[in-house]
Amino acid sequence: MSGTVTITGVDVHDVRFPTAAAGDGSDAINRGDYSATYVELRTDAPDGVFGAGFTFTNGRGNEITCAAIRALSHHVVGRTVGEIFAEPVAFWRSLTADVQLRWLGPEKGVIHMSAGALVNAVWDLRAKLEGKPLWRLLAEMPTEELVANIDFRHITDALTPDDARAILDKGLTGWEERLAGIERDGFPSYTTSVGWLGYPDDKVRALTRQAYAEGWRAMKMKVGGPIDDDVRRARIIREEIGPDALLMMDANQVWDVDEAIANMARLAEVDPYWIEEPTHADDVLGHARIARAVAPIRVATGEVAANRVIFKQLLQAEAIGVMQIDACRVAGVNEVLAEILMAAKFGVPICPHSGGVGLCEYVQHLAIFDYLRVGTSLEGRMVEYVDHLHEHFVDPVRTRDGRYLVPEQPGYSSTMRPASIAEFSFPDGPAWR
Ligand SMILES: [Mg+2]
Repeated sequence: MSGTVTITGVDVHDVRFPTAAAGDGSDAINRGDYSATYVELRTDAPDGVFGAGFTFTNGRGNEITCAAIRALSHHVVGRTVGEIFAEPVAFWRSLTADVQLRWLGPEKGVIHMSAGALVNAVWDLRAKLEGKPLWRLLAEMPTEELVANIDFRHITDALTPDDARAILDKGLTGWEERLAGIERDGFPSYTTSVGWLGYPDDKVRALTRQAYAEGWRAMKMKVGGPIDDDVRRARIIREEIGPDALLMMDANQVWDVDEAIANMARLAEVDPYWIEEPTHADDVLGHARIARAVAPIRVATGEVAANRVIFKQLLQAEAIGVMQIDACRVAGVNEVLAEILMAAKFGVPICPHSGGVGLCEYVQHLAIFDYLRVGTSLEGRMVEYVDHLHEHFVDPVRTRDGRYLVPEQPGYSSTMRPASIAEFSFPDGPAWR
């Protein structure tokens, strides 16, 4: 690693895409313009290498995360990559436990997401400097170094450093064979592009038919509208995909606990594989009650789980059968490592949340690392796929027959194309004038 490379500045971009008009991304709660608070870490490296990271937001929300990232930037500027990775937990806490800004969380919401954008940009920079895709940087990393990157504060009752060491050491056996398998076949995936809540029935049917023809055998629909409408749309998708393909449902937190249980009793007729975000994201005990009531349908959640402590509780309470990590809701790679290891300890498979802007690009690396070094099985593992906005990234995801292909370029696939940044910058880019 070129540890002497110094971060000399942080460029923050408010990038928004006008997705609201088409109903793309519409669900029971969210309508809006998919946005990225995108940062580039400038460096003094002679070849101009920079670190790219972002957090995913929605429309006007981007103003707030841009301001928060600027408020945190001084923790990054002037540091060398070597210094940061010599004491990674101290660095991570400089962002997540800033003595004044922590009050705005702690470790949740805007301030934590903003820390995540910077943390991810640092990891992208390191991976680029080492000439490796992030998944490979992590998969090849010695156990002791991976453990050193995790802040175990507040999770040692669920996962100790020794637990993590044991899991990661076990994963050293056979990871290259596992890699050969996914390099040949791709990584399992499912698509969410068929059933946004704003789409009319004929569009849902046509998109489902098209996705099935393209090879997808797992699809997710949005629910949380009037229940009769949800049942009708679910029947359309099940008719199109037959009895064997997986159908997942996502309520985006719109239901109360008893309402979720009652509605899933209706929707059970189409044999859902999981119900995602059935109720408020912070309601750990509510998720546990729903999980017991709707079994064998699994409860899945995590895309807005604020931090590793919420995931710890979801696992301890047996509230989830599928854990949906997100790359930039929490404070970046370091925190996701803790979450991946906790899931393994509790035996719950990870199916990362994706879609949005650039989330597919990010999470493919995390899912592949999980498979190679931690989870070591593809059983019940799928990465979400949404067919939106990939063209704005320099190293976009590639899929074949409903599976992700292993990314090959150095970094975290998080670099946006300069032309896209210029076109969609708010409020001055041509797309917004
Ligand atoms: Mg979701």
